[in-house]
Amino acid sequence: MQNRSNEGEGRLAVVTGASSGIGAATAVALARAGYRVVLGARRLDRLEEVARACGGEGRRGAEARALDVTDPASVEDFVAALPPAVHLLVNNAGGALGVDPVAEADDERWRTMFETNVLGTVRMTRALLPALEASGDGHVVNVGSTAGFETYRGGAGYTAAKHGLRALTDTLRLELLGRPVRVTEVAPGLVETEFSVVRFAGDRERAAAVYRGMTPLTAEDVADAVVWAATRPPHVNVDRIVLRPRDQATSTEIHRQS
Ligand code: NAP
Repeated sequence: MQNRSNEGEGRLAVVTGASSGIGAATAVALARAGYRVVLGARRLDRLEEVARACGGEGRRGAEARALDVTDPASVEDFVAALPPAVHLLVNNAGGALGVDPVAEADDERWRTMFETNVLGTVRMTRALLPALEASGDGHVVNVGSTAGFETYRGGAGYTAAKHGLRALTDTLRLELLGRPVRVTEVAPGLVETEFSVVRFAGDRERAAAVYRGMTPLTAEDVADAVVWAATRPPHVNVDRIVLRPRDQATSTEIHRQS
């Protein structure tokens, strides 16, 4: 990483959904860049492992705290334990459930996707805005998706949620104009994490098939984009980063070796 002019030294970052995948890789990458990191997710044992991986010589360490972004009381408790100034909030908790066509949409799965990807981001952002502003140089990075501007068969529950997240992100940037808080969306294509295992309710074979014959992004590739956006100088707002595997042109056009 070159030309970093806003390094993480002395800065505090909060990462949601840090117990696996992109959130875990982002927490480790931020710790390497000098941030002190507070990690949130529901699986505390996994979070603690990631917090340990954030440690190391010269690093400012990390704390793991239970967080369910769909539960207002959990968000309130999590935020109440933070210091009064926070520099970076990475709203990463989220994911997809199922691939039901609209004609067979399952209300509960749709509700959960909206609760995590959209409302979870709203709750965390609303609760942390005073602390972000108090830092004098705050930044909200929302982990969106190419599903935030494309659609695919069976994807409506997830694409609708990520389209919603995109609208929320762009609206927030307008509303914060003139205040010291930057707003960025990082929107990846296919990344091999636990995402597809969760989407297919633990069916690992079906999940593996999503990435078969192609080279997906890694969680670290996405973490790199988050850290790059966060470490630009305070006057530089990176609105959006879209990154995909070279093997993927759109959500449905994927080059696979047979
Ligand atoms: P992942 O490995 O399944 O990670 C999802 C993370 O979200 C986990 O740490 C999970 O932790 C957390 N989470 C889920 N529900 C939560 C809740 N209610 N409260 C707090 N944390 C919650 O998948 P990932 O790929 O890293 O996904 C991270 C983000 O990237 C998501 O927003 C996803 O939509 C987005 N994304 C992924 C891809 C992809 O291809 N993988 C592409 C584009 C965008 P717990 O279960 O411990 O709570």
